[in-house]
Amino acid sequence: MRYPCIKISKSKIFDNAKIIVDKCKEIGIDVWGVTKVCCGDPTIANIMNDAGVVALADSRIRNIVRLNKANLNNLVLLRIAMMSEIDLIIQYVDICLVSEIKILRALNKAANFYKTQQKVMIMIDVGDLREGVYYKRVTQFLSQLPKMNNIEIVGIGTNLTCFGGVVPTVEISQRLIQVAQLFKEVLNIDIKILSGGNSSSLGLVWQNKMPAGINNLRIGEGIMLGRDTVHQGAIENTHNDTFILQAEIIELKYKPSIPDDKTGFDAFGNIPVFKDIGWHYRALLAIGKQDVFPERLVPIDKSLKVLGASSDHLLVSMPNNHVYTVGDTIEFTLDYVGVLNTMTSPYVKKIII
Ligand SMILES: *Cc1c(COP(=O)(O)O)cnc(C)c1O
Repeated sequence: MRYPCIKISKSKIFDNAKIIVDKCKEIGIDVWGVTKVCCGDPTIANIMNDAGVVALADSRIRNIVRLNKANLNNLVLLRIAMMSEIDLIIQYVDICLVSEIKILRALNKAANFYKTQQKVMIMIDVGDLREGVYYKRVTQFLSQLPKMNNIEIVGIGTNLTCFGGVVPTVEISQRLIQVAQLFKEVLNIDIKILSGGNSSSLGLVWQNKMPAGINNLRIGEGIMLGRDTVHQGAIENTHNDTFILQAEIIELKYKPSIPDDKTGFDAFGNIPVFKDIGWHYRALLAIGKQDVFPERLVPIDKSLKVLGASSDHLLVSMPNNHVYTVGDTIEFTLDYVGVLNTMTSPYVKKIII
């Protein structure tokens, strides 16, 4: 076995996805399974499909191509479409997210060239101030929309919490429904998909407060880690230990907790802060900030404590009666950013169990 490695539990991801898909289905919401944290891994995508997601969504075109090559379909590109990727979008993406008329024109032209129709979802910013047409500027946007024979607007969507930390509420979610009415009035089109947000909207689903009309959510973290991102808490009956990172001890020594000498900046330009816990056992692990930041990790053995890391070394303190030795490994659970970091590091081996 090689370390560091991240072990991914198929059955736990399936359970989480199933719980969320079923709960959403009860109130008429379809789930798009978001695969970006695992770089569009086809095995994980298949598990999400088995659990009943209606499409697979990823923010990177490269991951979409990976899913397509593995014979997966119903692929949604989550990051706003890029001008330099229009040709790939036409070839690989079923639904792409758009907020710019210039991009819509380019998509229309390319779709016409390839003799196809491109489905799009227009992103509406209902207040988080990341992507989308600001909800108070939709009329103006619609008045500028050209006639596009090769574009089909299948939905409107909004993203909340990721940038502005705006917490989804009934009132905010209703703004999307009002925007759908504007599309009907101005363009006379029925918006089929109203995509109300990401995992941060699961709170509204569980409280049974999602306004009728919202019929789609795009879920990543909820499925992968069983977490409601706004409340930073676990979703009932889901697993939070779907991903487990394992790193190897390369040194284990009894040392003081504070340097004997004057200190300056560390390797990352920060002034280190030390907590005096006296002399203690310090394990040095072969993983570092190049793979994952230490604050993203929680040791499964509760007697251990993460002290910090440099690029290639992670430091963990151990009690005097610990049972570890050099060559042993230590396991950690991770938060979503930690999973993202380690899944993206080529130095961390991925094992799907
Ligand atoms: C990442 C992303 C999601 C999924 O977010 P989670 O919080 O992981 O559920 C949904 N929509 C868009 C546009 C995204 O970029």
